[in-house]
Amino acid sequence: MRLILLGAPGSGKGSQAGPLTSHFGILQISTGDMLREARAKGTEMGRLAATYMDAGQLVPDEVVIGIVEERLKNPDCEKGFILDGFPRTLVQAAALDEALGRLGITIDRVVEIRVGDEVILPRITGRRSCPQCKKPYHIQFGPPKRDLLCDTCDVPLVHRDDDTETAVVKRLEAYHKMTAPLVDYYEKQGKLLVVDGTGKVSEVTERIFKVLS
Ligand code: AMP
Repeated sequence: MRLILLGAPGSGKGSQAGPLTSHFGILQISTGDMLREARAKGTEMGRLAATYMDAGQLVPDEVVIGIVEERLKNPDCEKGFILDGFPRTLVQAAALDEALGRLGITIDRVVEIRVGDEVILPRITGRRSCPQCKKPYHIQFGPPKRDLLCDTCDVPLVHRDDDTETAVVKRLEAYHKMTAPLVDYYEKQGKLLVVDGTGKVSEVTERIFKVLS
């Protein structure tokens, strides 16, 4: 199974990737996570990406396309994967089709998790995650059992640098301008499935499994 999760920041792509990867026994490939790792390691690419990320802007296509193309060549992708946060522009979508074509494979389904902008801001600003196991939490909708510590790793949860109100407004603008046209792109390919992204994480998961079955 090769899936793309499409949706605005805060639509729940990261939260839904977990149950889907476990169910299908496939990998999650998150460009946001890869860029944050490069940034934490202090690589040149990571430093460049950080300037765009903190401003709520998209990292240039050639940078992101390069890291995804490299990642897809890895043998662990053979069983299938979920792309989370990629593609985000029409240029990236075309590059992905080309790269997969060279590998002799295609995307099976694109799941758009649809939510209105008004629910996004409180969702994103309350987000926290475990720096070790990456499990997502929300201070209001899905808090950890104790203080602000990960239930599994017992370490303090962290707040992303770009989950501030100012950056979120910019990220939403970028989504509507650059990423929303992909809905049409994948609809024309006959691959698009749209799911209502409001409500509890488990309710959205159920909807996704339903449309995929
Ligand atoms: P995410 O974790 O998917 O919300 O991504 C966090 C940030 O990383 C985005 O706001 C962008 O600055 C950058 N980013 C992640 N994926 C992409 C992509 N496919 N294209 C451009 N920038 C990206």
